[in-house]
Amino acid sequence: MAHYHQFDALVVGAGGAGLMAALYASKSVKTAVISKLYPTRSHTGAAQGGISAALGNIEQDKWEWHAYDTIKGGDFLCDQDAVDILCKDAIDAVIDLEHMGLPFDRTPDGKISQRRFGGHTNNETKQAVQRACHAADRTGHMILQTLYQNCIKNDVKFFDEFQMIDIIMDGNKCNGIVAVELSTGETHVFHSKATMLATGGFGKMWKITSNAHSLTGDGPAILLRRNLPLEDMEFYQFHPTGVYRMGILLSEAARGEGAVFINGKGERFMEHYMPTLKDLAPRDICSRCIYQEVQSGRGIDGKDFVYLDFRPEHINKWFEADGNPKRIDAHYLETRLPDIIEFARVYLGVDPITDPVPIQPTAHYAMGGIPTNNNAQVLADESGNLVEGLYSAGEAACVSVHGANRLGTNSLVDLVVFGKRGGIAMAEYAKNASFHPINKETVHQYSEDSLNAIRNSKGTERPAAIRKELQVMMDEKVGVYRTGAGLRQALEIITDLQARFKNLKIDDRGMKWNTDVSEAWELGCLLDLAEVTAAAALWREESRGGHYREDFPNRDDKKFLNHSIVWKNGKIEIKMKPVRITRHQPVERKY
Ligand SMILES: Cc1cc2nc3c(=O)[nH]c(=O)nc-3n(C[C@H](O)[C@H](O)[C@H](O)COP(=O)(O)OP(=O)(O)OC[C@H]3O[C@@H](n4cnc5c(N)ncnc54)[C@H](O)[C@@H]3O)c2cc1C
Repeated sequence: MAHYHQFDALVVGAGGAGLMAALYASKSVKTAVISKLYPTRSHTGAAQGGISAALGNIEQDKWEWHAYDTIKGGDFLCDQDAVDILCKDAIDAVIDLEHMGLPFDRTPDGKISQRRFGGHTNNETKQAVQRACHAADRTGHMILQTLYQNCIKNDVKFFDEFQMIDIIMDGNKCNGIVAVELSTGETHVFHSKATMLATGGFGKMWKITSNAHSLTGDGPAILLRRNLPLEDMEFYQFHPTGVYRMGILLSEAARGEGAVFINGKGERFMEHYMPTLKDLAPRDICSRCIYQEVQSGRGIDGKDFVYLDFRPEHINKWFEADGNPKRIDAHYLETRLPDIIEFARVYLGVDPITDPVPIQPTAHYAMGGIPTNNNAQVLADESGNLVEGLYSAGEAACVSVHGANRLGTNSLVDLVVFGKRGGIAMAEYAKNASFHPINKETVHQYSEDSLNAIRNSKGTERPAAIRKELQVMMDEKVGVYRTGAGLRQALEIITDLQARFKNLKIDDRGMKWNTDVSEAWELGCLLDLAEVTAAAALWREESRGGHYREDFPNRDDKKFLNHSIVWKNGKIEIKMKPVRITRHQPVERKY
């Protein structure tokens, strides 16, 4: 017999999106948050560089410029009405965070400080604009702490270290979720009127990744198993500046503060590719340029990495060359980028103040995910039909504001803007709805059975070995560059790994804190998501944003100015959904 709980609004995930939704839902209905991690350990806490809003605190800016940059950065695959909401509401969202107590860095006259970030421009001069609000390079940490404290103040009920294993569906209506309490191994049934999945990203499909261990896409994978679709799964972002071989992120804020890429010949190579924005071109472009340098033998010592150079005297030299009057020193960098300077010192033994830092692209951010409308309500198909009572926001969701490539700092905006809209929509719905009956005795059976199947498995395959093979293969075949042949091989390998996954060898058969079982279950999620990612990437025979097909190097607006909607109902099925275009027709991306 499982434990039983009832809440009007239930949020799964305690990152920025989940906490913002819970905060706003809890203003009017009984709200709970379920999180497999202690809330403040969510990945939002690792976000470094900033959150964009066209406040115009340092120089002229407009939310319409922010919107156009986002659409162009997304290679015209964004739904433009959703982008308008994102960029317009970003301004109030940042002020809202400030009023909740978030300690932003300040300008000398006391306003919220802002810095440059890739792809954010003054649309008239085409130059980089200072739009990213920041708290040193710990912006996400500050957002997470601020939201958590405000949720506690608002009496949100937290179930920490509870892992959702299934959602409770009755036809087209979601009635809650089933979770396992990690400390006991017991199942809990959470019965709700409105449920939100804010479970974050799934970068653990790849080996070189900036993502935390827990980012295994549980929410999207559970929906796939319940025959619900995912959107734009082929679009995954590779951030250009991961620590070489480790993938740990060095925020784009470094380039926002003046750092540049250097190749093996000592050249600032982005000047040749993107003469206006140079090192502040969007991430998809920078990552491909790094690979091109490496392919052409211009990596450092001919190897597969380049340098990120943020030595103060070099930054000042480039500022001068660019006609930028700003000058900085070591103290300035240590104050503005303390964490990433420390990361380079600790993980690489390189001091960025005196030496250039070896970097390579790292798997970073899921543009695709659970399809939603602009109020975070989950869509059941390509025609816009809704799943009643189900919501999603944050990196797990695809609203779609990032299109084919997200601009830096726009994820944190997405969390607070659409987290809030989702929270308000859930409360409105819950106030007017009654609890839909569920069978308390049976809804948890599927979850118990699937965990017990893993716990009692007597096979020969180590989950860690399967995970490693998946990750290495995804780096090779479903990375920055893709080909039809490589993607077909990827799908064959994933099918093979899925078969081996049915024959697991598990050492710990206990109930309490059984990470062997929970990590194996998460591997099942990664395998399913890898399969739909590779399938959608094979289907999209064009290159756009973060998805680059060597065999189809051009963007094909005639055929593919569409979102992909993918099901895994026995076999993979892919349909198209047109992109919503309002003011901005697609043009070629030049920076
Ligand atoms: C190193 C790094 C730096 C970044 N820097 C920036 C930046 O400067 N600016 C920016 O805009 N973006 C940045 N990003 C991206 C951004 O931080 C993330 O996209 C965003 O924080 C995701 O927030 P979220 O609320 O969707 O999910 P997360 O913060 O990842 O939280 C997910 C939550 O879901 C819970 N969860 C997951 N599965 C389950 C389950 N099965 N059961 C119960 N709970 C579950 C987890 O416990 C967690 O609480 C960065 C990302 C990384 C990795």
